[in-house]
Amino acid sequence: MEHRQFDVIIVGGASAGLSAALYTSRQGLSTLVITKDIGGQALLADYIENYPGIMSVGGSALMESMKKQAEKYGTEFLYEELQELHYAEQSCFEIKTNKDSYETCALILAFGKTPRDLGVPGERELKGKGVSYCAVCDGPLFRNKDVAVVGSGIPALDAGNLLVNIARKIYMIQRTETPIGDSETVNNLIKTGKVEFVNSTKVVGIKGEGKVGALDTVRIGSNEHREINVEGVFVEMGYVTKTEFLRGMVEMNGLGEIIVSKDCSTSMPGIFAAGDVTDIPYKQAVISAGMGATAALSAYNYVQRIKGRPVVKNDWKKISTGKEDKEVSLFLH
Ligand SMILES: Cc1cc2nc3c(=O)[nH]c(=O)nc-3n(C[C@H](O)[C@H](O)[C@H](O)COP(=O)(O)OP(=O)(O)OC[C@H]3O[C@@H](n4cnc5c(N)ncnc54)[C@H](O)[C@@H]3O)c2cc1C
Repeated sequence: MEHRQFDVIIVGGASAGLSAALYTSRQGLSTLVITKDIGGQALLADYIENYPGIMSVGGSALMESMKKQAEKYGTEFLYEELQELHYAEQSCFEIKTNKDSYETCALILAFGKTPRDLGVPGERELKGKGVSYCAVCDGPLFRNKDVAVVGSGIPALDAGNLLVNIARKIYMIQRTETPIGDSETVNNLIKTGKVEFVNSTKVVGIKGEGKVGALDTVRIGSNEHREINVEGVFVEMGYVTKTEFLRGMVEMNGLGEIIVSKDCSTSMPGIFAAGDVTDIPYKQAVISAGMGATAALSAYNYVQRIKGRPVVKNDWKKISTGKEDKEVSLFLH
């Protein structure tokens, strides 16, 4: 079966992936971005005020603008989920998504961090059918409905604060004996009369036929079950790198983050990585975007090399023909 081939495939459509796409498509490489959404974690940031050159911008507005910029130079976008990656001698890499397969010799992994799953029966089946990992994105779908927030700390309280203006009742379910976080925020939530903190409790299952109907919970240290009827559940358990499927192909650290060199190359020739999915110490939009650009330039050189064409050295003003260096302005447009 024939698969569509691209010079570069980028997985992830947020700061790192969109910036990489801008660079590769501007250099004339056929570029495909495979992504679950546009914006990634930045969608959760109401305002980003530390992106250089922009005083204040909504996370989603910044990401949409990056997408448009990459599209202007010919980047193609597909809303699919990377599920498998195979090395194929001829085609270099075969990328399998939930819908199709694609081929490329230069792959940029920029799929960031993903919300941690609860890991209970029913969660997988009911994802998008009442199970959400983003109160900002999906909260408005639960107007005047009963919902639960599972998790603790600032992200859970933030979700509670947002939902209190939308939902009818909010159960804040957490393993700790008391809520973790600012006590004033907790008290303000309780004062609304709409919020119940369900402490020392874990969720052991999500029930529902085609949509969420109830949560099965257990009081920690007992066998005491309580069924809580809700139509929505917001999982606020932090973020993880979901890179298990890459094990054996690229080197990773103990956190499952992809180890990259300064040029954003990985241990596998042809695979580059950028942004929060890598082992860089600081996870920020501007850092991801910078790494995206670096990965793109490295991928460009890689493609040039395998096509037997001149590569760009450290400095964008120079290209190397392998025999001699010569100045060009080709890449400074
Ligand atoms: C609430 C919040 C506020 C923040 N505020 C700021 C701020 O003010 N300033 C700042 O600089 N940073 C901020 N950050 C951090 C910043 O958002 C991240 O560092 C940045 O988004 C990382 O970008 P990324 O492209 O590396 O990955 P991500 O943003 O994690 O994006 C990953 C992309 O990959 C896609 N994806 C994931 N898995 C797959 C798959 N298997 N197949 C296909 N696509 C996939 C996702 O859909 C997404 O598009 C904030 C983060 C959060 C959560």
